[in-house]
Amino acid sequence: MTNDVRFQRMVLVWLVAAAMLLIPAPVLAQGTNIDLPDNKYSVSDDVKLGREAAAQVEARMPILPEGGNVDDYVEQVGRRLVNGIPREFRHSQFNYEFDVVNAREINAFALPGGPLYVNRGTIEASGSEGELAGVMAHEIAHIALRHGTAQATEAQSAKFQLPAIGGAILGAIIGGSVGSIISQGTQFGLSTYFLKYSRDYERQADILGAQIMANAGYDPRDLANMFRRIESQGGSGGPEWLSSHPNPGDRYDRINREARLLNVNSARATQDTAQFNRIQAELRSMPRAPSMQEIARSGGSSSGRRYPAESRIERRVEYPSRSYRTHTGGNLFSVRVPANWREFSDRDSVTFAPPGAFGEYQGEAVFTHGAVVGIVNAQSNNLREASQRYVNALLQSNPYLRQQRSFRRATMDGHQALSTRLMGRSNVTGRSEIVTVYTTMLRNGNLFYMIGVAPRDQSQVYNRAFRTMLQSLEINA
Ligand SMILES: [Zn+2]
Repeated sequence: MTNDVRFQRMVLVWLVAAAMLLIPAPVLAQGTNIDLPDNKYSVSDDVKLGREAAAQVEARMPILPEGGNVDDYVEQVGRRLVNGIPREFRHSQFNYEFDVVNAREINAFALPGGPLYVNRGTIEASGSEGELAGVMAHEIAHIALRHGTAQATEAQSAKFQLPAIGGAILGAIIGGSVGSIISQGTQFGLSTYFLKYSRDYERQADILGAQIMANAGYDPRDLANMFRRIESQGGSGGPEWLSSHPNPGDRYDRINREARLLNVNSARATQDTAQFNRIQAELRSMPRAPSMQEIARSGGSSSGRRYPAESRIERRVEYPSRSYRTHTGGNLFSVRVPANWREFSDRDSVTFAPPGAFGEYQGEAVFTHGAVVGIVNAQSNNLREASQRYVNALLQSNPYLRQQRSFRRATMDGHQALSTRLMGRSNVTGRSEIVTVYTTMLRNGNLFYMIGVAPRDQSQVYNRAFRTMLQSLEINA
């Protein structure tokens, strides 16, 4: 036995030695091993989910033009890093793409399957190309390790199937703004699974990020430097990226230790300083980038409109028809809605409203009569607390509303639920408006909600429609 093993080992040593003679030593560095987290999604799910989410981002965020100097430059740094991904973490289906968001905060985020966004503020704040590459390498690591769908895997019960990765309260906020609700950390309707990572995953992304940098010819210690720099900036910009990429503890030491393991020869690590300086100068000559909040307030980029351009808010809206049709919300729910209501879906919610009740008001997508059904990340395990937080978010983005009463018990498809009522004078209609909110907790930790909206003087008619909806509701989670 022992002899066999020794013999095999000798053969192996010999083979490796022979291989090294034949092939020039690869520059690929070794470093710490990374164990891939469990993931019940397929690689093509990553690609699909990422593509869908990217469409949302691009509809709502101002992206610097393709082919411009800044975009070209970031693309070039990105390519170089992608070539440094260790072989075992490459997926031929993945398509790494790099875009610059014209936003002030230091931030960057990655979507499954390859889309990667760097805020302009990140480039402006970086001290060198290496530091910028550090942020990007860390994000590329999250993509390559498939952390978005791994996190969704962890969070989902077996019954709650793909692709209902849910997270955000997106748009559709009652006669008011889409704006401030977005700043809840689930920006622009993207699932939080793709935006905020656990400390374990952060540790992995730091380690793989360092390896990618070393392989690409950057000094991984610049990743540690960039984290330090962002932390020291504090203020409005700094914490944005750090809050979604929490420090797993001794972050700098770990990255620097990894750099030593990778045996980085700082003389060989290179970066294009002149080009980096040119890009920074170009950015400084541009008008100051808007903040994320300003972008949200303006409803994102113009293509982010939710309703057809010809839609108009009208004073008179036809009553809910007495005939109903069934709407099926993916594999999550079905509900009967008045046949004359139109529907507008986004990732996590569907708005139902009659013609004349939806459109733009002062640059924001609003609706005055109808209902919304959707899911949102519950901010608590407790239904009452999660519901109150959700209602608070509604109140924050619709400041004219007041909560009229505390929660009452209700049921939604047999599930324990709560209901409450908000009221206020709508700026859009100039009339008093009643908003009824129903919430229930799903097993996967999401809050499922249904909201009815109607002017107070028509609430009787509309309550009938809302009751029919509620009674017909079937939730499959
Ligand atoms: Zn991270």
